[in-house]
Amino acid sequence: MTLLEVERLAVSYGPRPALSGVDLSVAEGETVCVLGPSGGGKSTLLRAVAGLAEPDAGTIRLAGRDQAGVPAHRRGLGLMFQDHQLFPQRDVGGNVAFGLRMRRVGRAERRRRVAELLELVGLPGAERRRVSALSGGEQQRVALARALAPSPRLLMLDEPLGRLDRDLRERLVVELRQLFRRLGTTVLAVTHDQGEAFALADRVVVMREGRIAQAGSPAEVWGRPADAFVARFLGFRNLAAGRVGTGGTADTDWGPVPVPEGTPPGPCRLLIRPSGVRFLPPDAAASPGSPGALPATVRARTFRGDHVLLLLAPASGPPLEAACPLRAAPAEGERVGLAFDPSEVVLLPLPDAADSGEPDVAPGKAPGPA
Ligand code: ADP
Repeated sequence: MTLLEVERLAVSYGPRPALSGVDLSVAEGETVCVLGPSGGGKSTLLRAVAGLAEPDAGTIRLAGRDQAGVPAHRRGLGLMFQDHQLFPQRDVGGNVAFGLRMRRVGRAERRRRVAELLELVGLPGAERRRVSALSGGEQQRVALARALAPSPRLLMLDEPLGRLDRDLRERLVVELRQLFRRLGTTVLAVTHDQGEAFALADRVVVMREGRIAQAGSPAEVWGRPADAFVARFLGFRNLAAGRVGTGGTADTDWGPVPVPEGTPPGPCRLLIRPSGVRFLPPDAAASPGSPGALPATVRARTFRGDHVLLLLAPASGPPLEAACPLRAAPAEGERVGLAFDPSEVVLLPLPDAADSGEPDVAPGKAPGPA
């Protein structure tokens, strides 16, 4: 069943639209992460759903009911926003009990529920601890327990793990996912961190300039970015324009690149995944059916745990990124020949004529879902 339905939502601050024509639905028990660069409208979307930003147009329905005119505190939502700090003068128990007290839940029931939630978020017995004495990760857990306490029908998280260091974030995100699964919580989260979004979400929604650029499962979005903007935002760098000819290749600045079978001829935009760049001897010759190697020099190597990310300067065309196993990785400065694996080449839609170029995207992190 659909819990949240947003239709053609528009919000603006003064003359500037922050959101336009946004359609989004969240099913009961589903975790949806809205992802995108800063300024894309993610927080505005959350605030509108929460009843904290006034829509100019469109509808927001929760469990089928139009929320126009319903005040924030009557929407039955749990909010964990960056600007909603814990109350420093209250202890952990006092913080978690806050929403229950607002709903006039009795003392004994409150105490039971607080204990249950602290247990749930991995802080059993922490009721009397001072908030100021908690680590960043513990504070985040308390904030989560506070948001979950009144059993909201929809939990909304704004950059839930944004302030924590990477290590802790990666651990917490796994815990959160398990917790939401177990409780059947419906979650709408926004983040600019793709690793977080991909690890947490059943469905990812990528926003750009107040509009939805792509929505789909993490595997769908990762496997088939809808356009060059999404691809760049996800950290893919090997993007090129070209022209598909006969013979299953596209002419690009890197020379011929094999394309998946059935790709129609004509102008194209494509993306070569870093794992689709293959290494050959530098002088590998062309043979029938194989276009021969593109000579390149290894400019940089970055160790990524289970693979090495290589930055390559090809003899023609822009720099390329390649991912390869540590054992097989050529050394910095080495001259190599490159070939491309057609199954790792993704055709992207051509930009609209109306689209006046793509805005710059803040450099994403190296490809590879967290
Ligand atoms: P994100 O959460 O993706 O960073 P926001 O929803 O915060 O994006 O912002 C979307 C756009 O709306 C931005 O251009 C931002 O500058 C603008 N904006 C956000 N909040 C306000 C506000 N309170 N007043 C004026 N402009 C705002």
